[in-house]
Amino acid sequence: MIPDPNLTTYPFTSGATSYVRDLKIPIPDLLEKRAYARARRRGTDRVIQAIEGRIKSNTEIPPELELLSYPIARMIVSCIDDDYLIRRYALAEAKAVHESLRTEPRDFLMAMGQEFGMHSKPLDQRFELYFAEYIKYANRMHDPVWKLVNRRLYHGSVMLTEREFRRLLQEAIRDHIQQDLPLSVPPEICGALSHHIADVKTSLGARKTEFEIEGAVEPDAFPPCIAHAIALLQAGANLPHSARFAATAFLLNIGMDVDGIIHIFGGSPDFDETRTRYQVEHISGSEYTAPGCDTMKTYGNCAGADDLCARIKHPLNYYRIKKKDYTVKPGVASKV
Ligand code: SF4
Repeated sequence: MIPDPNLTTYPFTSGATSYVRDLKIPIPDLLEKRAYARARRRGTDRVIQAIEGRIKSNTEIPPELELLSYPIARMIVSCIDDDYLIRRYALAEAKAVHESLRTEPRDFLMAMGQEFGMHSKPLDQRFELYFAEYIKYANRMHDPVWKLVNRRLYHGSVMLTEREFRRLLQEAIRDHIQQDLPLSVPPEICGALSHHIADVKTSLGARKTEFEIEGAVEPDAFPPCIAHAIALLQAGANLPHSARFAATAFLLNIGMDVDGIIHIFGGSPDFDETRTRYQVEHISGSEYTAPGCDTMKTYGNCAGADDLCARIKHPLNYYRIKKKDYTVKPGVASKV
């Protein structure tokens, strides 16, 4: 019997890792014995559900097998060794945890933060977090409310509501889950997991096809807003974060790779390759699709709208239509 139910809810903590290690289960047993078949299936499901967007809790599986499914999932992800999968898996595990954290008491949240590098102090109903630790995670958020200039500083610390603290903790946990993936997994282990790996690869392939627009990138079909943002970047203008995010997500959605996007962003005056790469890879591994036209307008990023723009609601639809046929045909709007 597992001594602490939190071990299954938070299988990435040092306590859970030590518990699994102390079980001293031989790896061949874990991979082959019937007794662990449900753990292997659950590990596979964890990864497939992550690809689909949400890891669901499983209350029917015995706690010990649920706990063991976590290292199995990590082995599967490592054997496949796909950047997109790694990021998506880490994100989904962290999001599932975020759900669980909603019901945890304050002391628990602070202890969890402590384990993952967020050294907070309580103040009234809020959390006080040193600004450097705050920035590390908050600078990935797109909502201006996270910008340091929009926060109240108190002796070098940022005041956070419990909800905000949980959201940053999710990011810290995601980094922790992602940082040592892929693990160095011997080929014989990947071989023993081959059926499970095949299931995951099928799901991954389907997701990538759905997420991306297939075919070569066609810059002449870019919508005016994206062409405008890219032109500004290449001219060395300093683009607002929202426009940079929109252009990045758009380029990823149409199948451009991370290096290609970084090359485009190289003209930006505040270009910092390490930071840019981190941000582009973060968007690449997440669920983000480029913002729709309404959002682009709200943030002032809709620029140079043309006739086709009047008939679509999303820059990706603009691209899809224009890529197919550079001549805008009557009746196209009805299909959008
Ligand atoms: S209407 Fe939409 S696609 Fe056209 S420029 Fe504006 S945001 Fe871009």
